[in-house]
Amino acid sequence: MGIKYVVSACLVGLECSYKGKCKVSERVVGLVKAGKAIPICPEQLGGLPTPRTSVEIVDGFGEDVLDGKARVVARDYFEATSQFIKGAQEALKIAKLAGVKKAILKSKSPSCGYGMIYSGNFDGELKKGNGVTAALFVREGIEVETEN
Ligand code: SF4
Repeated sequence: MGIKYVVSACLVGLECSYKGKCKVSERVVGLVKAGKAIPICPEQLGGLPTPRTSVEIVDGFGEDVLDGKARVVARDYFEATSQFIKGAQEALKIAKLAGVKKAILKSKSPSCGYGMIYSGNFDGELKKGNGVTAALFVREGIEVETEN
């Protein structure tokens, strides 16, 4: 028993996506109801408002953002790189406080995406790679999976 996972808050009904919406996964909701998971939203933890501008990682992946080699930007050149890094660090703090070693994160997101994320061209296409929070979690030994 006890808390085993941190999970993306938008998967359990919190309306924290950039559009102010959520995408509920009943499996993940069940884990929170059973006291096994804590919801987190790295983009909100990083200080971004909701709703907010849609952003993508350009010229790299979450790991590159953490290493200062890629940026998180919007189509209109608004930049959210520092908020994304801060949000990942705060999310990691929660995971460490709770002693969890596993995360279930929302697919495709520039923060939470694991395995595949949006391309950085704002064309709806995907590229192989991780979002910023997923990358930090993997680096810190937290096992990440998506809701799928
Ligand atoms: S995908 Fe992650 S950062 Fe985006 S709204 Fe969901 S929890 Fe927040």
